[in-house]
Amino acid sequence: MRVSFKSFELLLKYPFRISGFARTFTPVMLLEISRDGITGRGEASMVPYMGESVETATRFLSKVDLTWLKHPFNYQEVIHYLDSLEEGNPAVKAAIDIALHDLEGKLQNRPCYSLFNSDPEKMPLTSVTIGIDSAEIIRQKVKEADAARVLKVKLGSEEDKVLIEAIRSVTDKPLYVDANQGWTNKERALDFIYLLKEAGVELIEQPMSKNDPESNAWITERSPLPIIADESVQRLGDLEKIKGAYHGVNIKLMKSAGMHEAWQMIERSRQLNLKILIGCMSETSVATLAATALAPLCDWADIDGPFLTSNNPYNTPEFRDGKWILTARPGLGLEL
Ligand code: MG
Repeated sequence: MRVSFKSFELLLKYPFRISGFARTFTPVMLLEISRDGITGRGEASMVPYMGESVETATRFLSKVDLTWLKHPFNYQEVIHYLDSLEEGNPAVKAAIDIALHDLEGKLQNRPCYSLFNSDPEKMPLTSVTIGIDSAEIIRQKVKEADAARVLKVKLGSEEDKVLIEAIRSVTDKPLYVDANQGWTNKERALDFIYLLKEAGVELIEQPMSKNDPESNAWITERSPLPIIADESVQRLGDLEKIKGAYHGVNIKLMKSAGMHEAWQMIERSRQLNLKILIGCMSETSVATLAATALAPLCDWADIDGPFLTSNNPYNTPEFRDGKWILTARPGLGLEL
């Protein structure tokens, strides 16, 4: 079992702004695990606000030794091993987990989604994020997202109403709203959610601070739209902590430390009667395909990495009728 990796700057088409913070690229670690001449590919997307970097990932990977790992892979054993090396580091752990799943699929000559009994026919629509910008650039972004049937808007500032009006002046597509913890008054947030419902919004992500579960729960109790936790939930253990505070959860491979734990989170969310949105960071086709493999098990998808980046080093998977298309190719189905 050989592990190799390299860092890569994944460029954003437009500088990315959320709540007063902008960047032009995302540091990514592309990782390969080879066994018997077959290579599995993984990826860590390390958005700065999550705290990982090329440096932390390199340091973590220098500790990883997978020579003990037997095939078929026991992913529970893998994640326990990675967690025992160091806490945190979910993105670089995800890179290892994704590469092992790609390798597993190739060794078994079957697509990754079949490892999870995920049915490509049940693929949900994927939303594409339209970042906060001038009215003219918003118009251009909406046009570029033409293939999407649902758009996602990042709100959470004083300009929320203006932004919704700007989007509504160019498209009547359904919208998902992500407040990214930006709202600070629960009554005002709830009033605004009623307005957003009238404006064709279908769900709200993380209305208020993750550190204020009471206010988020207050909104959830009264909201006419599903309220989804994002920043409040990283890994499996966090699901128990949000009971009653949200209608659903945004699961991302870069938070969950990979596909195995994301799948466990999907199972647990169903038991807890939580709806599931599967999301992403800015990612290449590798992590995009990994999330897409699990998306049919979820209610909504927000897997828009390839729409928002300009130098994806791999072929972009096929996108049709607003959905990613999973193929029968073994592993993730990545095309080089
Ligand atoms: Mg979010």
